[in-house]
Parts: sequence; structure tokens; C-alpha cells
Amino acid sequence: MKLFETHCHLDHPDFDSDRESLINKCFSSGIEYIINVAFNKETAFSSLGLAKKHLHIFSTVGYHPHDAIDFDAEIVKKLAREKKVVAIGEIGLDFFRNLSPFTVQREVFANQAHLAVEYDLPVIVHDRDAHQECYNILKNENIKEAVFHCFSGDIIFAQQVLDAGWMISFTGNITYANIHLDDVIRLVPLDRFMVETDCPYLPPHPHRGERNSPLYLPLVVEKIAEVKGISPKEVAELSFANAYRFFRIPPDPVKALHHKSSHKKVN
Ligand SMILES: [Zn+2]
Repeated sequence: MKLFETHCHLDHPDFDSDRESLINKCFSSGIEYIINVAFNKETAFSSLGLAKKHLHIFSTVGYHPHDAIDFDAEIVKKLAREKKVVAIGEIGLDFFRNLSPFTVQREVFANQAHLAVEYDLPVIVHDRDAHQECYNILKNENIKEAVFHCFSGDIIFAQQVLDAGWMISFTGNITYANIHLDDVIRLVPLDRFMVETDCPYLPPHPHRGERNSPLYLPLVVEKIAEVKGISPKEVAELSFANAYRFFRIPPDPVKALHHKSSHKKVN
């Protein structure tokens, strides 16, 4: 099964002891591409480092709502120009933990959404208990390409996201008995969803309590297949094609590394 892991944090200290061997294992077990997601200044650099080391790992730049108080636009602008940075993220709002004040979260999210348009990059959205506010900010900033990572809304909100032209991404929490996302899985069209593990967080059932890794991505795929009534292979292929298109992965990464892409609008 050819898989595209669209959201993970392999630069996390939990992987310090076996990072390289785990990455090799991922690439030899069907994972073809990995988006390693940054969430502050430190991870923007560590994630890019990982992406520069591995041809099929790509990175992002952005300040998570928890880190919104540290937002530095210059870091985002600088790294958004990097060839292996394919998205602005993860950015958004988190009204569940509120580690940064509301007003700061909103302002920093809007600023980064604005930069995504300026640098012509898709957005990876972290939305925790802030569905409508996230939606409004993305709409205000005229965002065309966004993915709601680890989608947690209901079908009404999912339909709103789809109507806006955005993507929905599913993580291991869809396998939890207390999470009810089957309706959303059924609703989302075959060309509008992606899969992710968000590792080391959110290990799918039956691995809860363990360190998560991209190796568990098939469990997310299998759950979607079961709910949608199609084969895991089809789910893998569809989510792969969707991610490949969404993140604008160059057809030949080797070649692309030598020819700086011209689609980014840079001043
Ligand atoms: Zn994440």
C-alpha cells in the first residue's frame, strides 16, 4: 500500500533514540512521502533539517496557537521561501487549552494566513474548539487552499469546510470508541480528504498509550475504508493523490531541488 503521511512530528524528542531507523522503516513499508509539521521557531528549523536530509520528507513553517505569543513574521517569511517548505502550518486557534490569549491567537493566525496567500502556500489548520472562528479568519484572508488537520467538527461544519473548497484530514482518533466522526468520513468526497498520524501524539486503537509513528497510518486508512465501504488500497491511493496535489509535490524531487520553483510569489 503506497501511503502519504500528511502530518507528523518526527523531529520530536520522543524519536531521538531511533529517528533515522524509524524513517527508513517507514519508507520501506509503503510510506512514500511525509510532511513533517513545524509549530514554532525551533521546530521550523528542526523540521526543515529533517526535510533537507530526506528527499521524500517535506516541511512547513508556522506558529501553533500555543506558541502564538512567540510569533515572528520574519522567520515565516524566510522559511516560506525554502524549496522544501510546502505549507504554512500548523496554525489556527485552540480555545481548549488557551495557552496563548484569544486576541493574540486570532491576530497571529490571521497574520500567518495572510502570509500564506503572499507566499502562495497552502495552510495546515489546527482547530480545537474554535471551528467558526477558524472558518471566519480563513475566509477573511481569502484562503483557497487549507486542510483542517485532525478534523474534529460535526457534519454541518464539515460541509462548510468542503463548500469553502478546503480539505479534511483524518488522524488516529477516528479509531477511538468515544470519537464520532463516521458521519464526516461518509460525507467527505473521495477527492477531498487526507490521512495523517500526528505522531508522536494520537496513536490509533489498539496502540493508545504507546508512542505513535507513521507505521500506524494503515490503521487510519483501514478505518476510513470500513466506514466508506471501499478497500484500504483505494483509500490509500485516493488520499495519496489528494495530498500529492494539495502540497504540490514536485514530480521529480531530485530535479526540483536543483531548479528553484518559480510559483512562489516572493518580494
Ligand atoms: Zn500536529
